[in-house]
Amino acid sequence: MDTDSNAPSGPLLEVKDLRTHFFTRWGTGKAVDGVSFTLNERESLGLLGESGCGKSMTSLSILRLVPGPAGRIVSGQVLFQGRDLLRISEQEMRRVRGRGIAMILQDPLSTLNPVFSIGGQVAEPLRVHRVVPRSGIRERVSKLLSLVRIPAPESRLNDYPHQFSGGMRQRVVGATAISAGPKVLIADEPTTSLDVTIQAQYLRLLKELQQESNLSIIYITHDLGTLARICDRVAVMYAGKIVEQLTVEALFERPAHPYTEALLQSIPRMDRKVHRFPSIEGSPPLVYDLPPGCAFAPRCPRAMAICRSEAPPETRLDPGHSVACWLHAKDEHET
Ligand code: SF4
Repeated sequence: MDTDSNAPSGPLLEVKDLRTHFFTRWGTGKAVDGVSFTLNERESLGLLGESGCGKSMTSLSILRLVPGPAGRIVSGQVLFQGRDLLRISEQEMRRVRGRGIAMILQDPLSTLNPVFSIGGQVAEPLRVHRVVPRSGIRERVSKLLSLVRIPAPESRLNDYPHQFSGGMRQRVVGATAISAGPKVLIADEPTTSLDVTIQAQYLRLLKELQQESNLSIIYITHDLGTLARICDRVAVMYAGKIVEQLTVEALFERPAHPYTEALLQSIPRMDRKVHRFPSIEGSPPLVYDLPPGCAFAPRCPRAMAICRSEAPPETRLDPGHSVACWLHAKDEHET
């Protein structure tokens, strides 16, 4: 687990009760259903959960890139440096994307256009946001490529993506994302298509970039090992909601939500011999057909009567540790 000597300070991004729904002929899908969290300066927050739990849709909502017309942000606030991004014009929002908040998409290798040179693609955000004068763009692009450890960057500016290895293209995508000097970088499972050694190098690089560029990172993943390497805090998502928020240390030492516990139990451990890895029974509910009460109840081994009828309130267990589960609710509950 990495520790950062520069202690994070001050909230940079505050997401408050964000709701993004999809209106289709099958009904209303609550892809993001009342999500709230903060991201401090130079902090890394992990969004953890199974596929379809709302992690990617939360980040697309922050950037107002929800696929329409079916998808719509129906309520909430996204306060970035005190300004609500859901209330500003599309023109102002275009200035925020890339310059204020940048994103590395889930399949970074296909984000590079095969017919444009690497130098041209890294330079694009610099041109759009006019970060440096035209005459300084080439030098800046070389510096960015050298920052992401591309050897002899000057000589590679006119090369095309197919002339780079998978790991190098991945790093080029990282250089493009940070080229306009964003404050927040959202990385949506950027190491999924890389082999384990390259993954480890990439995560190390991301951590270095964070320190050199004072970045705050939202890291979306279903991989607990990756979380341990890159994140300070974690928000665990299930069926469009955050069910637990805690530090990475607390995640591994004292998870409180049965879903978080189940995720931890399903990872292989060197010190434990098992015939079969435990898995979470059943599958996540469809966002168009959420059960009443706690959405995890049909899969939860500790579900009680109240869980099937009433949504659990959020309870604060410790500073920085909150959970939405009836087992931890302060009021009396049925059993
Ligand atoms: Fe399980 Fe009930 Fe807690 Fe949901 S609220 S996780 S069903 S114990």
